[in-house]
Amino acid sequence: MTQFSFISHLECPKCNKTYDEKQIQQLCECGSPLLVRYNLEDVKKHVTPEEIQRRSASLWRYHELLPVHNEKDVVTLGEGLTPLEKLDKLGSTYELDNLYIKDEGIIPTGSFKTRGASVGISKAKELGVKQLAMPTNGNAGAAWALYAAKANIKATIVMPLDAPQITRKEVHIAGGDLHLINGLISDAGKVVAQLVQDAGVYDASTLKEPYRIEGKKTMGYEIVEQFGWKVPDVILYPTGGGVGIIGIYKAILEMQALGWIEKDKFPRLVAVQAEGCAPIVDAWKKGEKESKFFEDSTTCAFGINVPKALGDFLVLDSLYKTEGCAIAISEQELLAAQKEVASLEGNFVCPEGAATFAAAKKLREQGWIKQEEHVVCLNTGAGIKYPETVEIEGVNTLQPGDSLLTSKR
Ligand SMILES: *Cc1c(COP(=O)(O)O)cnc(C)c1O
Ligand SMILES: [Zn+2]
Repeated sequence: MTQFSFISHLECPKCNKTYDEKQIQQLCECGSPLLVRYNLEDVKKHVTPEEIQRRSASLWRYHELLPVHNEKDVVTLGEGLTPLEKLDKLGSTYELDNLYIKDEGIIPTGSFKTRGASVGISKAKELGVKQLAMPTNGNAGAAWALYAAKANIKATIVMPLDAPQITRKEVHIAGGDLHLINGLISDAGKVVAQLVQDAGVYDASTLKEPYRIEGKKTMGYEIVEQFGWKVPDVILYPTGGGVGIIGIYKAILEMQALGWIEKDKFPRLVAVQAEGCAPIVDAWKKGEKESKFFEDSTTCAFGINVPKALGDFLVLDSLYKTEGCAIAISEQELLAAQKEVASLEGNFVCPEGAATFAAAKKLREQGWIKQEEHVVCLNTGAGIKYPETVEIEGVNTLQPGDSLLTSKR
């Protein structure tokens, strides 16, 4: 039987302590998230990029670089290999000749949280987990509840009262153990931490289990594969907990080590945040290694309302190492960009994704992005999950038999 995964162990990026991946692990003793390491030399001998390209269109095509040993433990809804499309009309408006969308709007559960859920739940199943708990701003809870249902794992999900209604319903329909909290995701986190401590359930909070990153890193593999095993110049990512940006950076390093892409050529990674919640931007501006808790955070881009991320030091490190940057976008700019993308290109992007377009526009105006550079905006979810961000005014209601030529607008 051919080897499915080449996972080797877990490693702390802060103190370098290593851990066994065959047992349940959460954070390092020192409090840092753990990263998954692979036997990359063996992967190199075992598989080529050309071979991967011939496999089925799901993120599991990269299974050698994912943590699950046995294919039968894979919990999948066919997620991954989402479109990378060039946006010429929007590009000419922004004076960007090579503007792309990586569109996670068309993935099971309606957001890219599905990637982390598929890989995270599969590994949890392999490890024999029966119950997990997590705080969420909505999309992660929805995805994890749905995949947990498929894997026969009980999912306890705690989300803020004002998280998008649809995510509540996704948890409920999946038979998840849903709880609402009159507070922020950080408050939900405290409730979950207490349950984990008292009842010993598996903590699936962002970065408190090591495998969600592995799911999200596949966006990095896909972007590079879709560009013909080349890296673009800039990738803009709507940053909350930062798992995606940490994952994409990890994927680039792995592909360099595998010899699949040029060494030392990085895409400049951009962490995009909302002005109402910009702890990473504040830290980056000061050149700091960690962020500070962002008080009273608020934004309609719910997925990036994270006042303090556990992996902030990893996000900031990826920005410094790739000569990227961090930028904050106002609610007005973000909603204007959302309208612009839909009306010019037909993509109804989520508010988080819209922020990356507003950021591309601004960074182009500032000259930080050059006209001919290849730029990827990551749309992390479907706009249709957030109907309340679109306001409609002045639509006329017809009576049967009315004429459209005479009806007033
Ligand atoms: C969670 C989420 C984000 C932020 O993702 P992180 O990897 O935690 O930074 C962005 N967009 C959407 C739609 C999300 O649900
Ligand atoms: Zn450590």
